[in-house]
Amino acid sequence: MSQIPTIQNVNITPKVFAVGIGPDFGPITGLASPADIGDNELVQGVYGLYYKGIKFGTVYELIKINEKHVTKEIAGYVIAMISAAKNDGVELKVTSGFRTMQEQSELFKVRNTARPTSKPGFGSHQTGIAVDFNVYADNGRVYEWLVKNAYVYGFIRTVPNERWHWEYWGDWVDQLRPQWAGGKTNDTNILKHRRLAMFSKVPKIHACGDRKFGGNLVMYESGWWTLNGASGEHTDSSTEGATNSWIGYSNEFLPDKLDREDPNWNKRKF
Ligand SMILES: [Zn+2]
Repeated sequence: MSQIPTIQNVNITPKVFAVGIGPDFGPITGLASPADIGDNELVQGVYGLYYKGIKFGTVYELIKINEKHVTKEIAGYVIAMISAAKNDGVELKVTSGFRTMQEQSELFKVRNTARPTSKPGFGSHQTGIAVDFNVYADNGRVYEWLVKNAYVYGFIRTVPNERWHWEYWGDWVDQLRPQWAGGKTNDTNILKHRRLAMFSKVPKIHACGDRKFGGNLVMYESGWWTLNGASGEHTDSSTEGATNSWIGYSNEFLPDKLDREDPNWNKRKF
């Protein structure tokens, strides 16, 4: 790999539509209805970005990926990741991307304990850098692929008890950071986006799950816990979720597995 994927050099269809409803959107221009927008197509509007209840920026362009919207600035990395996974025989999908204030409010109304939802304005999906993936698909192969490869594209896990939740904190020298996300070029920005490495937010060694099993955070929905059901064979299941969330479906601690299979797995760069 030599070229950092950006929205300019990945294969998107630059078809422009404008849509909009609700307070975070600009005027509806009538170019197309949202239903007419296909995957990898551009959606234009006016969308507020929020962090801890404070509006810190606005984006005007989203890319539709798997029926979800991703801010254009990070969509190039997501699309490049999906296509690299496909080359490895893994079907990586976005299950949640950027959420408008209206979408976060709707989700908050129907929240449940398996999939927690933050108050409107406080959800990380309103910051524009968070993406959820289908980590439990294909008996955990998708999760393993992400653990091995996502950091190369600037994505790291940031919530210990949510395997599906990844955020763009690009770690490489030339990796682009969205201007609105702040950092050195814009230190008035409250998000203060800075480069973070793989285990910056979710440490390599940690324990999630029920306190009586040694965990310190309730392990939210684990797909393979559910998949394995009553078998109780998987750590997440036998300990009611008390687990190191870097453990994969195979019950193996993935960083060790990857170290063994390819000692340089975490030193790759574009
Ligand atoms: Zn999420």
